[in-house]
Amino acid sequence: MLKALVNLFFPKVCLTCQLQLIDNEKHLCTTCRHKLPLTNYHLTQDNFISKLFYGRAKIETATALLRFEKKGITQQLIHQLKYKEQQQVGALLGTWLGAELSDCEDYSSIDIVIPVPLHKKKLRSRGYNQVTKFGEEIATALQAQYIDDILIKVTNTKSQVTKNRFSRWTGKNDTFALSNKQKIAGKHILLVDDIITTGATLEACILELNKAENIKISIATMAIA
Ligand SMILES: [Zn+2]
Repeated sequence: MLKALVNLFFPKVCLTCQLQLIDNEKHLCTTCRHKLPLTNYHLTQDNFISKLFYGRAKIETATALLRFEKKGITQQLIHQLKYKEQQQVGALLGTWLGAELSDCEDYSSIDIVIPVPLHKKKLRSRGYNQVTKFGEEIATALQAQYIDDILIKVTNTKSQVTKNRFSRWTGKNDTFALSNKQKIAGKHILLVDDIITTGATLEACILELNKAENIKISIATMAIA
């Protein structure tokens, strides 16, 4: 009765098509859920992302849950996550990918999940790192630690929201630092981010992480452009 009343005044709607959700639907309606463009990259070692980093940064394995297309469903989801305070999008995608990765041999040795960090000024203005929930859910699924205070962003590159809302800064100006090299030495790290476009941001993170001794790095993102 109470639930019915709450639904009447605050109907839960699908994050992408805005249609009202029915009882067992969470965040996305069944139609939109089936429309999600899954990459299934984690089922292939030699996938598009591995090739993207070939000759640039050494990685063990890499995947992205979704394909990102302009005006597509993935773009809508990530827009909700980054600009509409819909952090449950990150949790939804993290739970989904985490379940997939927990069945993959390549990801079974992951010790630590580390998010691509935001600069502290950006973190203050947005209020959250959009990758946090995603990373936390994957860490839980892989029984790994989630650590977000070792890789730090030290320059503040301006968001290109005004120029092109959905494209990312190329990352050329991004600089990262490590607060504690010993804590991650000898570990297999899963670096997580929202979207891969050129790969420059992740490349910059990997170069910094490699300053720790004897580490392995893999990548998992919500989407790939
Ligand atoms: Zn929908």
